This record gives sequence, structure tokens and C-alpha cells, in this order.
Amino acid sequence: MSKQLLSQIPAINKILLLDEVKSLIQEYSEVGVKSAIKNYIDEIKQEILNEELHEVPSLEKIVEVVTQIVKSEDKNSLRRVINATGTILHTNLGRSLLSQKIKENIESVAFNYSNLEFDIDNKKRGSRYVHLIDIIKKLTGAEDVLVVNNNAAAVLLTLNTLVKDKEIVVSRGELVEIGGAFRIPEIIKLSGGTPVEVGTTNKTHLKDYENAITDNTGALLKVHTSNYKIVGFTKEVSNEEISYLARENELVSINDLGSGQFVDFSRFGLPYEPTVKEVLDSGIDIVTFSGDKLLGGPQAGIIVGKKEYIEQMKKNQLTRALRVDKMTLAALEATLKLYLDEKEALEHIPTLHMISLSKERLLAKADVFKTRLSDLDFKITIAEDKAEVGGGSYPASYLDSVVVKLEHSRLSATDIERRLLEVEIPIITRIKDNELIFDMRTLRTREFDLVKQALIEVVK
Ligand SMILES: *Cc1c(COP(=O)(O)O)cnc(C)c1O
Repeated sequence: MSKQLLSQIPAINKILLLDEVKSLIQEYSEVGVKSAIKNYIDEIKQEILNEELHEVPSLEKIVEVVTQIVKSEDKNSLRRVINATGTILHTNLGRSLLSQKIKENIESVAFNYSNLEFDIDNKKRGSRYVHLIDIIKKLTGAEDVLVVNNNAAAVLLTLNTLVKDKEIVVSRGELVEIGGAFRIPEIIKLSGGTPVEVGTTNKTHLKDYENAITDNTGALLKVHTSNYKIVGFTKEVSNEEISYLARENELVSINDLGSGQFVDFSRFGLPYEPTVKEVLDSGIDIVTFSGDKLLGGPQAGIIVGKKEYIEQMKKNQLTRALRVDKMTLAALEATLKLYLDEKEALEHIPTLHMISLSKERLLAKADVFKTRLSDLDFKITIAEDKAEVGGGSYPASYLDSVVVKLEHSRLSATDIERRLLEVEIPIITRIKDNELIFDMRTLRTREFDLVKQALIEVVK
């Protein structure tokens, strides 16, 4: 029985001669189309042998499936999605979005030769690390600057350069694990240092640090707890006290800020957090932070502080292994330039813009979105809700937000949520009390039409 069926499967060469297949080859590639046909034919054969298939699919059906395969394989693995969750720095969705304003800077450096390591004024070899020094000095008051691949790299390089083979004193309340298994005690060990934990989970006093200092101590380290918050009966030691104690004992004071910010966001309803400049002003020797968290730039790790220490880091062989690409440098420099005018930064850096949106603007956005969807078969309501900054900043703090909720007569919220992940540009939504939620803090106005098209498609 199956032998007879197998003999009915059309030959690949015959399929390749079909007009539809020829045009598919024109649009995509011969290699891609051939491989799709071969894979589908193999699948048909296998199903016939397993007696799961009792009829050979028609040529029409074969062309349809092959077209689907070719189209889906043509998509890049890494691609755009739409974030309607309300979590601004969504680590799984790529954290910060770059500003449209910096497109030209990235293009001009990426598609042309550049002075990446060429000193034009002195007509000789230069360093890639000079390009960001002036702008970061201006914004933070730092003596010197070094930019590496990410903040994990920044912490590793700092510790490996300055306190390898030494003891590093850190509060028990700050031994964080960041998503993706970045653990402070492990990073200290990897750098060659020895972690010395002081205080308790909820309280660490200055005398805890004092008592831990020995002849082998190299640094006092503070770490931003980033993704959790200890509340209630708590005590942590200030940057001023840490830096003073370090200086008195000829130790290095280090603060891994994690997110790191150049503007005070407390006016937008978030708790006060010191800016990078304020931490440096408090006397801390070295501060490290991310480029793609609250700063709103590309992935990078930024090290700022005392020149003598940063000079040593530049000579460390690890720096070469952790070095940043020219596109990162171009994107970071252009993003940082927007900070020279704070209003400009708040309007044009998407992360900052989303944090700073007022309730009035969010409500207005929701109205536009609701009107845009009004001819679809949904019950639409506008409601107030809470959004998060995310990405290891402002743990347990929320921003007031405005959401648009959709209900469909036939499809459940979970059905629609799942189907929205299968469209051309997947849309990530949230479900609350059986309603599908689009948060106006992260969904952008220019994405409204894409969402509408997707909704039309998923309820069809
Ligand atoms: C996020 C974070 C890191 C890691 O930064 P990446 O840029 O993701 O490498 C390190 N330390 C703290 C405190 C953080 O919040």
C-alpha cells in the first residue's frame, strides 16, 4: 500500500518547473526553495511510511506548504517586536530603544571608514577609547572614562585590575544576582579577588566595614540591589561614608550602580536615586553602569572615576577582550550628546521619553488608539494601571500608566494574546483579569496601525 503511495510523490524536478515555484525562486533563492521542497517531500515520505498519511498531497497543496516554509525561513531569527507590556526596560525585548535622532551617526560610522583608532590632528595612530572621554567628563565630572562591552565586563575589569589577589568588602544586603546568572560573589572570585561579606541582609553599619579591613583588603564595594528592595528595619552605609573610610585606609572605593542615570527621575513619580555625577561627587573612586538601562543607549559598560585607576585598566589585557565595537561607540556618543540639553534627552531618548510621559499624554494616546480600533469587533475600555521601569532599576516601584483593554465576543484574551505572537511583527501584550491589555507607556503611536492590522488578522 505505502509503496504505491510513495511512487505517486511528484519528483522534485517536476515541482521546480511549476510557475509558482519559479516565481518563488525569483523572489527568494533557489537554495532556499529547493531545500524547502526536499524537506517537505521527506516529511511526506516519512508520514506515509508511518502510515499517518494515506494520500499524497496535491501539487497545489505542496506549493502552498513550500511557500509557507520559504517565507518563514526567510525571516531573520532576531527581529522586531512590539512591546505593549508597559515594562520599559524589558530585558527579554532588548532593553533600551535607540533614539531616531542618532541614526545618522551610526550610519556614517558603520558604512564608512572612520577615525576609530586614528588621531587626525596628530596624523598618527590613536585609541578607540578617546572618543567618549570629553562628553562623559562633561556629564559626570569624572576625571577619566573607559567604555567596555557591558556593565558585567566593567565590574570584572575594575576588580581584576585594581584588587586582584585582595579582599573586597561588600555588604550582605548587596550580594545580588542579576538575570542571566551575574552574581556579585562569583564575579569577585572570577576577577581574582576574595569577597568579604559584612553586615546582615537588612542592616550594614559603617563599623561592619571598619572591622573587616585587614592588611589584605583592597576595596570597599557598593552594589546597587537593582532587582530587589529590602524594606522595613534597614540600614545601608552612604557613599560619603564608604569613600571616606576607603581614603583613610588607602583602599579603593567602588560603586556598581547597575543602571546609572544622568537625570533625576523623582519628578516623574519614581523614588529618588543619585545620578552618576552625584555618586562621583560623594567621593567614590570608581563607578560602573550600563549603557542600555536607564541611560537609554546601546549595550555598553561605562567606567568613570579616578584617572590613575582607569589608566591601569586600559593596560589590562582583559580590556582587549571586552572592547566595544565602533557602532556602539557611535551610538553611545550620539545618545550622550542629547543629554547636553536635558529637555532634548527627555523627548528624544525613548527610555526617558516613556518614563516622563504624563498621565494627560497617556490618556490622549489611549483615546487615539481607541478611536483607531473603533471599527473592529472589540469591546474597548480605557483604564488606569501601573507600569514598570524594569531592567534592574527602581525595584518594587511603579509608574502610573494608562492602558487600553480589549474584549472579543468569540475569542478569549489568552487566544488573542497567543495569536498576536504569530503575526508578522509579533506583539507582546499583558493579560489582567481575563482582559487583553495594551499599555500606553511602551506602545508607541507609530505602532498603532501595525497593531490594528494584526488584530484584524488574528480575529479573522
Ligand atoms: C544590570 C546590572 C549589571 C550587569 O549589567 P549589564 O550591562 O547587563 O552587563 C551589573 N550590576 C548591576 C548592579 C546591575 O544592575
